[in-house]
Amino acid sequence: MRVYKFGGASVKDANGVRNLVAVLNTTGKDNIFLVISAMGKTTNAMEAVVDAYFSDRSAVKQAVQDVRKFHLGILGELFPEKQHPVYEKVEELFEEITGFLAWNKSPKYNFVYDQIVGYGELLSTTIVNAFLNKSGIPCEFLDVRNLIKTDSNYRDVKVNWEKTQERVNNGIQKGKLYITQGFLGSDDNNFTTTLGREGSDYTAAILAYCLNAESVTIWKDVPGVLNADPRYFKETQLLNKISYREAIELAFYGASVIHPKTLQPLQRKEIPLRVKSFLNPEDPGTTVGKGVKIAPEVPCFIVKKDQVLMKLSSLDFSFIVEDSIGDLFKLLHDHKMKVDLIQNSAISFSVCVDNTLGRLEDLLDILKGKFKVVHHEGVSLYTIRHFNSEAIESLQNGKEVLLEQRGRETIQLVVR
Ligand code: ASP
Repeated sequence: MRVYKFGGASVKDANGVRNLVAVLNTTGKDNIFLVISAMGKTTNAMEAVVDAYFSDRSAVKQAVQDVRKFHLGILGELFPEKQHPVYEKVEELFEEITGFLAWNKSPKYNFVYDQIVGYGELLSTTIVNAFLNKSGIPCEFLDVRNLIKTDSNYRDVKVNWEKTQERVNNGIQKGKLYITQGFLGSDDNNFTTTLGREGSDYTAAILAYCLNAESVTIWKDVPGVLNADPRYFKETQLLNKISYREAIELAFYGASVIHPKTLQPLQRKEIPLRVKSFLNPEDPGTTVGKGVKIAPEVPCFIVKKDQVLMKLSSLDFSFIVEDSIGDLFKLLHDHKMKVDLIQNSAISFSVCVDNTLGRLEDLLDILKGKFKVVHHEGVSLYTIRHFNSEAIESLQNGKEVLLEQRGRETIQLVVR
């Protein structure tokens, strides 16, 4: 069985849904398991519903109405015959949303979030399933909440692999075309849970693992995995093949290619992951798999903007060693600073961090009581995997390098 994942961008409008049908017509449609995300930016719109519910109840109705209008627009294009049963199914889902919000007694944000936000995926799969069947492609709709079982740590659950495996073994037959939701699962009380934003790739990997799938394909609006982010780099190259290890390394340094959580289950069973263009489904795209490290062998560039570089030195010329480094990491962790890079010498310690939650001032106040601190905000961290001198020069060009760290395969530069 092959698992295909279509993200929000691939089903953002009626043409996207039609294109999904075209992809299946090109690649074959038997023995395929479709995992679909919410359409376009629906998850953000569902988050707005939850926010309204907690901060301004009077705005809830309009927020739900916005989501409804968006989906009815797509339905209108795909099913101009207004009697199609899909309209009723979609309205039922909206009734469930309003019903839940009317009756809910839980004050817990994360619980309510998971019960509401997942309707994005339930809507998209209901619509895509109906359109596939209308297009003469018989397809079986599965509620993924009956397959993927998780704990109850809403918004960031852990998968119960044993129960999930059991459900998959009992629920799936080979040969068919199935469609199900990305991002969702359910807990022991059968409440909906979510796997974290961007979690649909992980859904595809979980199902592939339990199905012993032949491969997973993530259909995207780019030709595959590129050696640099086209938003920041003029010239980019498609990587034809990369190893699981390379993909995890790239993700670790900040490439937004594939989430490491997605790679782990696939790597364990050596299931290849393909990243392909939904506009050119016959193009080869990128294969992440076992063996060859990276082909073609080109430098890969990753940039993280708006980082903070801090250089700490001891106040009394004493060494910065295990105990003070231990305290430092605890402070960074407590202030939710994501550490990108560290470098230490006898009496100084440099660290480049991502100040996502904006708690730098607090941290600096504490650090200044213990160390001499010099810090630079708004710096960029560049990482080059498989670097060569030309690649390094292309980055340095006119910029001030504040820190450099070189390993065998990777170089990192903090510049401003
Ligand atoms: N719809 C969810 C999100 O936007 C999950 C996903 O698309 O991967 O985060």
